[in-house]
Amino acid sequence: MAKRRFGVSISRDLADRLDELTKILDMDRSSLVEAALRSMIVEHAHYLVSHECSALIVLICSEETSISEVLMEFKDINITHLHDHKEARCNQIIIAAGQSTRIAKLYAKLNKVRKCRAKYVALHEEI
Ligand SMILES: [Zn+2]
Ligand SMILES: [Zn+2]
Repeated sequence: MAKRRFGVSISRDLADRLDELTKILDMDRSSLVEAALRSMIVEHAHYLVSHECSALIVLICSEETSISEVLMEFKDINITHLHDHKEARCNQIIIAAGQSTRIAKLYAKLNKVRKCRAKYVALHEEI
């Protein structure tokens, strides 16, 4: 496949971790970045193409966090919500089923919750 070169700027910390990972996985930097981008784009297709979607959103917070107000805004999608604690971390799992654009919006909102990071996992392949 034809390759295209382009320059990107990333934080030093992230670049160092990327280099570490290339050593551990015995991959060159370009192959690793290409694999990461490919996987990210496949996941993002769930946001880009409107369809009936089901997804798992994992929210990992470094302190106790309530997302019930956020979830109230998404009564049009089917949500299962699990809330658990391990040491000081507050872990929440949201299983969402409904319109993909709405799930994408929910994910975007959860991604902005303070001291939390959200991870999106599509629960189906075909769109
Ligand atoms: Zn989907
Ligand atoms: Zn909690």
